[in-house]
Amino acid sequence: MESFDLLQYQQRVGESIVEVCREQTSFDPVQVQLRFWAEDAEKLLKQHPGDRSQIACGPGCCSCCVINVAILLPEGFAIVRYLKQQEREHVAERLEDLWRQVRGLDDDERLFVQRSCAFLDEDGNCSVYPVRPLLCRSVTSTCSNSCREALNSKFLGEEKAVLMHQFQQGLYEGLFSGVAAGLEISGLDGRSYPLAGLVRYLLQDSEFETAWLEGHRLTWKDIY
Ligand code: SF4
Ligand code: SF4
Repeated sequence: MESFDLLQYQQRVGESIVEVCREQTSFDPVQVQLRFWAEDAEKLLKQHPGDRSQIACGPGCCSCCVINVAILLPEGFAIVRYLKQQEREHVAERLEDLWRQVRGLDDDERLFVQRSCAFLDEDGNCSVYPVRPLLCRSVTSTCSNSCREALNSKFLGEEKAVLMHQFQQGLYEGLFSGVAAGLEISGLDGRSYPLAGLVRYLLQDSEFETAWLEGHRLTWKDIY
């Protein structure tokens, strides 16, 4: 594979989002486009020559699912649709409980609370895996122990490095930024929000998808 231009990739993503948002009558084309780019990213990862055989991430490995995760509104809509399809709206109680404990916490404070994501199931798997946030996809490590050590070292005020797959990280972060930029250019709210707070809110306000398409922007008061 030739060298990959992440900035150009981000720009292409943004342009494609602007294109599908032109009509702004339904969320469906945006969701289709998001799915397309998520699948495209998986293909690019397979083609990239960087060694992925060392990546330790896999089912049941979930020490990292205690961090703040930022998501975009279309990601939130996709998660809510998925939960409804699976008839799992009861996760709202877990989100409510989690959000009460983590809202307003910065990244370090969130780690101290040690509360797992509301979507983590009892076997340590992501229960919204097909629509999991782009920034969750960006996180990798060559060793699950080093993830735990790095997270624990935060309690001692230390910083321990975790070896990540840099191309994967750059690719999903570029995808996230490209989508955000495309939404803002289209006059839609492309800002990021905390995963638990946003999904909790969207489960309560089923009209918000339409309001968002009309250019309505969330306020922190809505979320909190
Ligand atoms: S980043 Fe670390 S804790 Fe998270 S899935 Fe990968 S190895 Fe496991
Ligand atoms: S959405 Fe899934 S992958 Fe992301 S933090 Fe939650 S359980 Fe982990």
